[in-house]
Amino acid sequence: MKKIWAHVIVAALSVLIFVGCAGLKSKVPPGAVPRPETAGSAKVKPPVLTREEAILRAKQIAGVSYTLWFGLDRDNPDFEGRLVAIFELRNRPKDLAHGLFIDFDGGRIHSLKLNGNALEIGPERYNGRRVFFKGSEIQPGMNRAEISFGHSYGTTELGLNRFVDPQDQNVYIFSNIDAQGAQFVFPCFDQPDLRASFELTVETPDNWTVITNTKERENVRVDGRMSWAFPPSSKLSTSVFALHAGPYSFKKSDADGIPLRIFIRKSEQARLSLLTNAKEWFELTRRGLEFFDLNFAYPYPYSKYDQVFLPELETGTIAGAGAVAFSEKYLFGGQPAALPKARALDQERADLIFHQLSHMWFGNLVTPRWWNSLWLYEGIADFMATWAQSGEGAVMSGNAEQIWARFLREKKRKAYDHDRIEGQKPLEIPVAEADGPRAGLGSGDTGKITAILKQLRFYMGEDEFRDGLQRFFIKSAIRNAGIAEFLKAMGEASGEGLAGWQRAWLQTTGVNTLRADWKCEQQEVTWKRKTKIISKISEFRLLQSGGVVLRPHRTEIALFDLDSGARKLRPRETLAISYSGAETQVRALVGKKCPDFIFPNYNDHDYVRVELEPRALNFAQQNVSRFAEPLMRQLLLTTLWDSFIDKQLSAAQYFDFAMAFLREEKDPGLVDWTLETLAGPEAAGPLLNSFGPAEFSRLGTFLLRSYKATASGSELHAIWREKLLKAPPQVLASPELAKEAARLFQLK
Ligand SMILES: [Zn+2]
Repeated sequence: MKKIWAHVIVAALSVLIFVGCAGLKSKVPPGAVPRPETAGSAKVKPPVLTREEAILRAKQIAGVSYTLWFGLDRDNPDFEGRLVAIFELRNRPKDLAHGLFIDFDGGRIHSLKLNGNALEIGPERYNGRRVFFKGSEIQPGMNRAEISFGHSYGTTELGLNRFVDPQDQNVYIFSNIDAQGAQFVFPCFDQPDLRASFELTVETPDNWTVITNTKERENVRVDGRMSWAFPPSSKLSTSVFALHAGPYSFKKSDADGIPLRIFIRKSEQARLSLLTNAKEWFELTRRGLEFFDLNFAYPYPYSKYDQVFLPELETGTIAGAGAVAFSEKYLFGGQPAALPKARALDQERADLIFHQLSHMWFGNLVTPRWWNSLWLYEGIADFMATWAQSGEGAVMSGNAEQIWARFLREKKRKAYDHDRIEGQKPLEIPVAEADGPRAGLGSGDTGKITAILKQLRFYMGEDEFRDGLQRFFIKSAIRNAGIAEFLKAMGEASGEGLAGWQRAWLQTTGVNTLRADWKCEQQEVTWKRKTKIISKISEFRLLQSGGVVLRPHRTEIALFDLDSGARKLRPRETLAISYSGAETQVRALVGKKCPDFIFPNYNDHDYVRVELEPRALNFAQQNVSRFAEPLMRQLLLTTLWDSFIDKQLSAAQYFDFAMAFLREEKDPGLVDWTLETLAGPEAAGPLLNSFGPAEFSRLGTFLLRSYKATASGSELHAIWREKLLKAPPQVLASPELAKEAARLFQLK
């Protein structure tokens, strides 16, 4: 499971920022001081854990538990620890031919005992990364390793980090643990399928609070310091271990008996209360817990849920079991809540909270067996976060339509663009080394996984999909599982195996194109002795093309009539249908009254590029504003933009269409997106490249007029303003427009 949100991704066609869990992160950030080689470390370090080593070690031992003591204080650049690791040798002596090792990266070992025998610590024993035991030193049955160790703090890298608050000089310690980060904190078998219970005692300065995976059993004062004792955790992967300490302020609440706490450093406490963000944050957390409890049919797996805000968390978030961490920037959102765009920020916040919360099930309760399943867990968390905002009983600010419209323009579009580039990797790829998973998850992948899971949910049916999730948790809770277990549970729930689906969707790349091909013919109808000529559908086919392979899809076809009397266009009828080959006859629609418009991916369940034939394209250009549902308008907008990119529409046609559309549209997300295609510094490139001075002047005039026409202080006003200020210089190049812009924005 990946707990990294390394990059803030600006979607090409939107300025609404969102944070993806899909970034790449190097172990040591640029500018950071590399960890020093420590006593006993060899010059050349062995490679990180390989899959083969992990498989072997999981055969060697089982039944692991760690009892840990940590001594933390404010001024020391190092921390000290003591570990008792209990593990059981499995009955396979041949697996011990090369001994056994414990991971501990960059630390110092002060003393080491195995089963009561003190062992010498030379380079053969500890090479700076691994503590080695010979096969002959391990006894049958239970073994007990006692290690006294030390390690330096980092600043923002993997391991335990130390932060000095410049406002009040308070010191905060926080863990940043990734696929293989626990080994920077204490010696452990650092691989996901050697789950273990952790029982901690942490000694700190008097006024500190300690947060880890369980809730403290007691905290007592000993010689002017505080000793925090925690009960043993459930069996966790080392990658979800968490340890944060410092003079934190906190707020607490409750969700149906589950204690909720939010921690923040002292100097930011006032801001937290002032913005009443804690209340809102708790409320979203409660809604998320309720939604996931219901849909996963597996109760929240930990004894409490802590959310800790950290000042210097460059990875953005960490989903420790029962203790997640967020960068402080997410709490404050970069701007006060009263400003326009607050709604978009609210959605980002909901995304963020639900994403981390869903990792308590997907990632922590069930953990990937190996890192090549990471994409699945990230994608599921992203899908769940979107579903939780749009699903029944958990509707957030904005309805389901708007949530999925936003997903389409901000993430799914990007996934399509990536997926169409030749040489892209499919989602399922082997990851040889533990450090490799980041290389397997590209920035477009999260959106693709979410989109494909949305497609799978529709392909299976929502009840069956939910049933599949429940089966998955019943089988895999407190275990490790990958795509095979996930799809097995889903396949059982759907009543058919998903092997073909898996091959087509997860092991190939490329986007299929879908076109609805239909004909109407006039028919004479006699009713109550009157004869009328009406037009009926005489033939209807779905045509699939493109992509590396044609895939099994399920989609929803919608039929629209202009003459339905209503001002807004809603489908007269819809039809859910599966298709797989190049051509699928849709007999259920033959004989229906001929509609004015047909869209073959209504509600955007399908992962496919829709191509409209000329008369449908023309209809879409003329009528987008009349479609009632924002998701439908967004689907048509993206289809029209694609048609321009594919040269079915000329630049002039797209330009005219977009200006006409913007005169009518009031949905901020849609306005923002369309404006970006007209005047975004990068996104509008394909359009603006064909413009001469006359077109630029027309565009500039239009933008300025529209800006002046929107109500000051509104969200739309802010969007137009931002677009004008960021537009390429040619847009406001003419002297009159430049003068007008300078007057409006008081530019010098
Ligand atoms: Zn995540």
